[in-house]
Amino acid sequence: MKSISSNMFQKVIESLKRNEMEAFYFSTAAEAGEEVLKRIPQKASVGIGGSITIREMGVLEALRKRGNEVYDHWKEGLSKEERQAVGKKQQRADFFLTSTNALTMDGKLINVDATGNRVTSMIFGPEKVIVVAGANKIVKNLSEGLGRLKKVAAPKNCQRRKDPTPCAEDLICRDCDLPGRLCRVTTIIERKPWGIQEFTVILVGEEMGY
Ligand code: SF4
Repeated sequence: MKSISSNMFQKVIESLKRNEMEAFYFSTAAEAGEEVLKRIPQKASVGIGGSITIREMGVLEALRKRGNEVYDHWKEGLSKEERQAVGKKQQRADFFLTSTNALTMDGKLINVDATGNRVTSMIFGPEKVIVVAGANKIVKNLSEGLGRLKKVAAPKNCQRRKDPTPCAEDLICRDCDLPGRLCRVTTIIERKPWGIQEFTVILVGEEMGY
């Protein structure tokens, strides 16, 4: 388990604020989940990124239960075309809720995507973006963050999806050259994008997702 001191969390929060984002810390996923639900009005539509963190929090069920319109492309039984259509709706939602693959001490968010619906919705489309990041997502700098994408995030996602990539077998990236390659788009959010009204990062003192 990654050890992050409260001082380090504070430093990340200060960096995120300097980068024009709102930032908060909660020690547990349950508290962070409550904060997420408090920030999203009941009438708002919500796009959900492909994120294990968000699903682990149980927020998705809570949003649905209280009547929010939720756009979730991981919903079971969707065809490829339906998933694509949900991805486009995410880009027009009032809120976009997701995690990040890495978060640097100087407040940069680094992500790798295959389809691109998650990384694009974090940058343009929804007026408000909420990112929930567990302690395991915090990295020293850009270089460690880009390394985390290939050493942890992408291989674990390939393994979960049972992708036909070498990393799905042994969690080791070989910079594959295969049609099933997940690593197709890498983004670095350095500051709140101009098109996003409110960009909030909620840090959690527990390990969440990968
Ligand atoms: S480049 Fe290929 S092998 Fe490396 S992490 Fe991405 S999908 Fe896996």
